Amino acid sequence: MIEVEHLSKRFGDLVVLKDINAVISKGEVVSVIGPSGTGKSTFLRCLNLLDRPSGGHIRVDGVDILDPKADVAQVRQKMNMVFQSFNLFAHLSVLENLTLAPIRLKGEKKAAAEARAMDLLRLVGLGEKAAAFPDELSGGQKQRVAIARCLAMEPEVILFDEPTSALDPTMVSEVLAVIRRLARDGMTMVIVTHEMDFARDVSNRVFYMDEGLIYEEGPPDQLFDDPRKEKTRAFINRTRSYRRHVGSPDYDLYAIHAEIDAFCEKHVLSARARYNLQLLTEELLQLHAPYLAGGGALDLTVAYSEKTGNVEIVFEADGDAGNPLEQTGQEDDLAAVMIRHASESVAYAVAGGRSRLEILVKAA
Ligand code: ADP
Ligand code: MG
Repeated sequence: MIEVEHLSKRFGDLVVLKDINAVISKGEVVSVIGPSGTGKSTFLRCLNLLDRPSGGHIRVDGVDILDPKADVAQVRQKMNMVFQSFNLFAHLSVLENLTLAPIRLKGEKKAAAEARAMDLLRLVGLGEKAAAFPDELSGGQKQRVAIARCLAMEPEVILFDEPTSALDPTMVSEVLAVIRRLARDGMTMVIVTHEMDFARDVSNRVFYMDEGLIYEEGPPDQLFDDPRKEKTRAFINRTRSYRRHVGSPDYDLYAIHAEIDAFCEKHVLSARARYNLQLLTEELLQLHAPYLAGGGALDLTVAYSEKTGNVEIVFEADGDAGNPLEQTGQEDDLAAVMIRHASESVAYAVAGGRSRLEILVKAA
């Protein structure tokens, strides 16, 4: 259905896409992952002609869409895009947001467009919100309206550019559920996403983009569990961890807790793992308060291995931040007991001027 050959895109001297080659068939769901700045959005924007490619070919159902005579509006209707930031019309009701383009661009009758818009709103769970304005909706609801609006143009392919990355963590799943539903219904989709678990279970194929190329591609199980190339492997491993730099004793504990919660949610970690992670971060940060007050900084990493099921928490610091289990004095003994209770093992080492405290968290 979509054939991309030697696609390239430059912005001035900056070569963003070097040589992209891909074939996407009808009914396929392709997830595009990769570090930021590697041209994932540019790739989608080229497919949809929002950015003009510098070279190469894109054919949709055999038709060369880069031909100057190609009908751009028709291409965009066929391959409609859902953006990170919803882009709803604030002055129009939800229903009007859905009917505007079908009436204006496709010449549909108002009544017919409204009837279909209502069906689509029900499909995304928002039948009740037809008369509401975008301001009155949560981020997750806005993004579901944006998806319904995209569907109102009856596209053959939907391009999603990080559809959940502007959302509060609690609203991610409602949007992903709608996209899953479309996948089940056989919609052809190309989805740029950072939600790795979602990419794994919704797609037929995953493209890992790096160096201006589709650096590696494969079925999700292969790409996530057994990536062939070094950069892919490094990227996949990084996505299974949560990192935070703590540079002062006035760190935001609530934000850290919320981020750890989101991490646990994303990887479906046990209630025990979550509780212990929260407890360990709180206790350890508190024990490091003097070190932080003295100008020290910590890098906190929480990592989860899908293979072993291990949940690990690591504190790295410049110099010797001290082994908190040895530092605890009389009144802090309770902290030491709690830390031991929440951990399978604790290791502390100083090497090359940096110290590393590694804790295997009790998760079951
Ligand atoms: P990704 O979506 O993978 O994060 P993008 O496609 O947004 O990456 O951007 C890739 C690179 O192209 C970035 O370095 C970005 O700054 C640059 N870029 C994107 N759009 C433009 C533009 N319109 N003009 C100049 N540079 C751009
Ligand atoms: Mg992007």
